[in-house]
Parts: sequence; structure tokens; C-alpha cells
Amino acid sequence: MGVPFRITLYAPDEPSAKAAAEAAFERIALLNAVFSDYDPDSELSRLSRSSGQGRAVPVSRELWRVLEAAQALAEQTEGAFDVTCGPFVNVWRQARRKGELPAEALLAEMKLRVGWRKMRLDPAAQTVELTVEEMRLDCGALAKGCAVDAALALLKARGIASALVAGSGDLAASGPPPGQPGWKIEVATLDGPGAPQPQVVLLRENAIATSGDAFQRLEIGGRRYSHIVDPRTGLGLTDHSLVSVLAPDCGTADRLATAVSVLGPERGLVFIEQTPGTAVRIVRQPGEKVEVLTSRDWPR
Ligand code: ADP
Ligand code: MG
Repeated sequence: MGVPFRITLYAPDEPSAKAAAEAAFERIALLNAVFSDYDPDSELSRLSRSSGQGRAVPVSRELWRVLEAAQALAEQTEGAFDVTCGPFVNVWRQARRKGELPAEALLAEMKLRVGWRKMRLDPAAQTVELTVEEMRLDCGALAKGCAVDAALALLKARGIASALVAGSGDLAASGPPPGQPGWKIEVATLDGPGAPQPQVVLLRENAIATSGDAFQRLEIGGRRYSHIVDPRTGLGLTDHSLVSVLAPDCGTADRLATAVSVLGPERGLVFIEQTPGTAVRIVRQPGEKVEVLTSRDWPR
């Protein structure tokens, strides 16, 4: 997943704390071996290589759950969220390395390989068929959140009731630290005129994830292109924003944060307000000034 994970936990003694943390890190490493799109041997990469061969491939429970959630969100967002966007993501990765925009012909070619309807899931058999050649799945928008959840669940199963797990900006907490109401988390923000004070939210049996172009982007001709793409056009997003989502679990927070980034602030806010148990804060800089938008249930 290409990011450091961090675990903070309370346990009766140091040896049990260490053993639990080690087991949780092992679980994260295992999931990395499933979801990595850099590792050619990951289950996800192997599945991608089956594309266009006219066969349905059985997948692990872990991969199944993630792809099922991804397809449900693709349908709800009419394709704004789409894990088949790998070919576009790769083109923009190369563009960032070279410092030049991708050729239109290349984007048009990649478009043939992208689209959530080109991936077919069979729930009864738990198999996945990639129906077009050269498809490439990319779980970068939700794998981190799922790994955070899996680590937290493992800690719970070992009797650790108070823990915080973070995969860079995506965090989930179980019970609060002893004597406190929750884990204090500072929500990421943008600097600039009109920027709000950093906000602190309390996490307790829930999760937060942030998506945005603050760290990874390409700047050409005064426009910034994010590492998040609009799968319907193949273009990197140019809206400079940070989207933080609160949700019951981190997998949900992670994928919704990416989905809202692509949907944009108006449709994104409506979408979150229609999704029970979730809230969003969008910090964006459309021009000179920084703007903040929050959904109804975002903590004040
Ligand atoms: P970050 O990686 O900065 O935490 P995200 O959770 O938003 O941010 O994930 C961004 C990653 O998701 C991209 O690097 C890419 O791998 C993948 N991605 C990009 N655009 C989309 C999209 N429209 N739908 C699903 N995944 C996407
Ligand atoms: Mg995400």
C-alpha cells in the first residue's frame, strides 16, 4: 500500500501489547500481498492478468469483500468511484514522472479498458471476470481503510479494547484511551487565505479517512492534476481539495472520501447526507480563498 502504518494501543502489560501489535502488523502485510498493484505477484495483479480471457477467477474472501463493496459504490456513484480505473491511474503516474500531460490518443485507448461494468462478480461462486483485455484493477482508494479495519478487528479479537490504527491519513479507533472520551484526531486542512483553524474530532468506535491532492499531484501550465482520476473522462481531478469522511469503519470512510472527491462538493455532500452513519468535511481552494463545506452530521 506504500504507506507506513501506525498502531497505538492500551494493554495490561508490555509483552501482550507488543505481541498484539506484531500480529496486527502481520495482518496488514498479508493484506498488502493481496491488494498491492505494484507487486506483480499480488492476488490483485494476478486477477488483472486474467482480463479478456473469458474466464471467471475464484478470489480470496478478502479480495471478494473489497471488490463487492467497490462495485456497490460504483453503481451508487454512477461510475465516479471505479476500481477498474488502473489504466488511467498508470497513465497519470507516468505523466507525473515526465512532467507532461498524457496524449489524448493514449487516454482514448485506455478508456476501452476502464469501466466498472466490464468487471463481473458472481456472488454465488465468489468469482470475478474481467471481460476486456488489458484491464487493471486499482484498489488504492479503499485497500488502506480495509487494512486498518482488519488490524483493529484482530486487536479486538485478542482482547485489546482500546486502540487506534492509522494507515497514513486513514484512521480507525476502538474504545478510547483510559479516562478519556475518545482519540483526538486533527483533521487535515489546506493552508491559504481564509483557511480555517485546524479542527480536532474525537474518534471512538469509528473511523476517518482523508482523500485529496495535497501531497501527490502534477502541475502543468498552472493547473494541478490530482492522483485521483475521473473514470468517466480519464482526466486527473483539477479541483484542489481535501475530503475527510467519518464513518463506522475505515474501509467505508476511505472509499467514500475518494468518491466524494470525484463527485465534487455539491453532489458529494448530497451523497453523504443520504448515506446513514457518515459525515464529510470538504476543504477546497477554487480560487484564492480556502472554503470549508460540511455535511449535516459533521461534528461542530
Ligand atoms: P490517498 O491514496 O491519497 O490516501 P485515496 O484514498 O483517495 O487517496 O486513493 C487514491 C487512489 O485511488 C489513487 O492513487 C488510485 O490508486 C485510486 N483511484 C484514483 N481515482 C479513483 C477513482 N475514481 N475511483 C477509485 N479509485 C481511484
Ligand atoms: Mg480513499
